[in-house]
Amino acid sequence: MTPIVLDRPGAVKLAALPPLALYVHIPWCVRKCPYCDFNSHERSGALPEKEYIERLMLDIEASLPSVWGRRLTSVFIGGGTPSLFSPESIDALLSGIRALLVLEPDAEVTLEANPGTVEAARFRGFREAGVNRISIGVQSFDERMLAALGRIHSSAEASRAIEAALSSFDNVNIDLMYALPGQSAAMARADLEQALAFGVPHVSAYQLTIEPNTVFWSRPPGLPEHDLAADMQLAVEDLLGAAGYEHYETSAFARPGRRCRHNLNYWQFGDYLGIGAGAHGKLSFPDRVTRHARAKQPGEYMKPDARVEESVVAARELPFEFMLNALRLVEGFAPALFAGRTGMPITVIERELEAAEGKGLLARDWKRIRPTERGRRFLNELLQSFL
Ligand code: SF4
Repeated sequence: MTPIVLDRPGAVKLAALPPLALYVHIPWCVRKCPYCDFNSHERSGALPEKEYIERLMLDIEASLPSVWGRRLTSVFIGGGTPSLFSPESIDALLSGIRALLVLEPDAEVTLEANPGTVEAARFRGFREAGVNRISIGVQSFDERMLAALGRIHSSAEASRAIEAALSSFDNVNIDLMYALPGQSAAMARADLEQALAFGVPHVSAYQLTIEPNTVFWSRPPGLPEHDLAADMQLAVEDLLGAAGYEHYETSAFARPGRRCRHNLNYWQFGDYLGIGAGAHGKLSFPDRVTRHARAKQPGEYMKPDARVEESVVAARELPFEFMLNALRLVEGFAPALFAGRTGMPITVIERELEAAEGKGLLARDWKRIRPTERGRRFLNELLQSFL
């Protein structure tokens, strides 16, 4: 007799689990920047590095049943300012991770660093601890812009940090921002040219946006007009393209072979375990996709009984969640990736795809679905199509 299989309405069935990454959040900074809406907290006094790492290990141990038997393709230590932690602490953290979880032999291990908190010896220590990629929050080389952004570092310190990073790492990213208070198109170009002069293999260029719960939200600075900001974006794309960088995601540019694998996994709707104060994660199981979030306040997170909020993503929300990530990719995605990550055939969004195509926001053939140039420019409008 053939058994009758009854599906739960809206249940998910994944043929295989996606790649798994690990995100570790270090929530402290020297000072809170006025535009920052990340979970970052101004440090007061010495950081509880040892206690925090012990807590992170307990966090991983408690998560093991959810990721049993899976290997990590990448680790990203982000913040906040993780470079405030000593190389010894980062070594203890990565040793602990390796003792509890299995890393792919070529796993990408990134650490975020801010100028003003790092020098050559510190970078060497991070390298010896097992970090193989550094992401530096430069934002600008212009002293006026750095002051307007409330950054703790000078242009010279940014340059020194990049040179020091490049003396220990060949895989380095620089974060830059444009459309800053009082910035002209020429100033934005000059910033980028200065960044390119270092020959770093990866640049992330973000337009400054004013986010709720920031100082800039309550006291907005004068920002460049919309058209000027759009011109700056085009100039950024042109300059990086001419210098041989591939524009592969809304804000990300890489030399061939240097795309950030950790972030690509997010954009391809892969899985990630998020540990640390305020960290978020996404984990798939054969019959469901879940999200989890840790307590935001470091003090709360470090309590032994701190709660982890977990929820199952409703099947009907998966197509939008997938698109929210995958449409950031300049080359888009293969239809099979949609099926693999959501457990649904691409035909479930046929009507929406057609509508977006009709508006010139999306292009597709049998191999790939990708945003058009217009779709990238009006990404929010494109995403609305799948809400
Ligand atoms: S250094 Fe980065 S994480 Fe810290 S407050 Fe500034 S923008 Fe936020």
